[in-house]
Amino acid sequence: MPAPIKLLILGGTAEAMALARALAHDSRTTPLLSLAGRTKNPAAPPIPWRRGGFGGAEGLAAFLVEGGFDALIDATHPFAARISANAQAASTVAGIPLLALRRPPWKKTPGAHWISVPDIAAAAQALGITPRRVFLTIGRQDLVPFREAPWHHYLIRSVDPPDPAFLPPDCAVIAARGPFSRASECELLAAHKIDLLVTKNSGGVMREKLDAAHALGIPVVMVDRPAPSAAVATADGIAGVMAWLDRLHGAMRGV
Ligand code: NAP
Repeated sequence: MPAPIKLLILGGTAEAMALARALAHDSRTTPLLSLAGRTKNPAAPPIPWRRGGFGGAEGLAAFLVEGGFDALIDATHPFAARISANAQAASTVAGIPLLALRRPPWKKTPGAHWISVPDIAAAAQALGITPRRVFLTIGRQDLVPFREAPWHHYLIRSVDPPDPAFLPPDCAVIAARGPFSRASECELLAAHKIDLLVTKNSGGVMREKLDAAHALGIPVVMVDRPAPSAAVATADGIAGVMAWLDRLHGAMRGV
């Protein structure tokens, strides 16, 4: 039997936690999950973990080499472009294989009203000059562009409360972690008289806010994902990661 694959998983997503659960009792790997440290009280992972940045691509490459890692999995959020670019560069320097785990993007339901925009700044511009009541579900790091459109009322939902310095003047804040039901999303949209939803195309199974907006005829400003690197092998779910690890394990055994 070859030694288990020493695996670094870059996380911060539900997919990374699902992968951690899938590998918790998998004798082929010794995994380490890495979190950026943004969330104040992250759920405890079922595998060894660490938190905090590595110091750019060079720092990550050094961490991989010094730690004797055999493989890297980038299971970060589709909008976390910097760490994904660092993962690609660092895996090349360290000479180890890299797999990206990316949940599929949301697809528009027929009849839904989506306005696609390339980034957050474009989302703020897309709100227009007529005052609206806007539900912002983009996390707490990307609020600043909406300060440029202070004539709208904003309902802001994020896991941890945002820094008050980032907030637009007319806003209400809800700190909450999903999952949310479609019924509760409908209630929230109605209670706050929301007439526009802004979200990143994070993708995945949790699309209740989109379904609620569709049901209530509320348009959605959808921020498209940054383009992923075509050079990185990608799996869209845990089964794909397991197949990749099977091949890697087979290659390490020389089969
Ligand atoms: P980012 O802009 O791509 O990364 C910024 C820096 O944070 C990286 O250069 C790295 O610092 C550090 N970092 C990011 N992910 C890390 C990880 N898993 N382990 C250790 N260090 C990490 O990322 P972001 O958009 O700020 O997101 C931060 C984290 O939150 C990510 O792990 C992501 O999965 C999660 N998240 C992001 C979003 C989103 O919308 N962006 C949504 C949900 C969850 P060094 O350069 O010092 O290594």
